[in-house]
Amino acid sequence: MIIYGWKSTHLKQELLEQGCPSCGKQNTVTMAVFQRYAHVFWIPLVPIGKQGVSRCQHCGDTLNHTQMPSSLKKTYGEVKTRSKVPVWTFSGLAILSGLIVAGVVNGRQQTARNEAMIAAPHKGDILEVRIKSDSYTLYKVADITPDSAYLLMNQYETNKISGLSAIKGKGQSAFLATPVGFGRKELKSLFDQGMIIDIER
Ligand SMILES: [Zn+2]
Repeated sequence: MIIYGWKSTHLKQELLEQGCPSCGKQNTVTMAVFQRYAHVFWIPLVPIGKQGVSRCQHCGDTLNHTQMPSSLKKTYGEVKTRSKVPVWTFSGLAILSGLIVAGVVNGRQQTARNEAMIAAPHKGDILEVRIKSDSYTLYKVADITPDSAYLLMNQYETNKISGLSAIKGKGQSAFLATPVGFGRKELKSLFDQGMIIDIER
């Protein structure tokens, strides 16, 4: 369950010289400005606008910015302009962008790493292979020659990528004994087609 919503934080409060629209007294109206922000799990995600509330300390008349008469609305606009959006209300957005950038960088690094490994396989490498859309298994590199790799196929298949760890748990004896030869170029082509999805060395 994702908990989200919006909250407000108090930004600024000023005592106004101008008279109360209700009782007419001067120097009794305070103008408070609040910053609204969206949160996810109470982590501020992004600011979503300001709100203002005026309150007369004499007669108690309280108005939000949509209810204020135009003179008070104008003052609210001025106080609002002087109140800065706190940077921390963007924290969640910053965290999210950071995670996305890290994910992209990590993904690229992994692809580059796998590309290098598939170009120069090592004996003992475990390849995670997508046989078809809902069928995954493991191949193990048994031997290498200058232009071929000999792979031992696992006797188990799984219908989800996450099931591959269970196949790994079955140990070395789960690999068939007779290797199948693949040309290096063929291996690269399987990788480029997305059939070799990951390599464990
Ligand atoms: Zn008043």
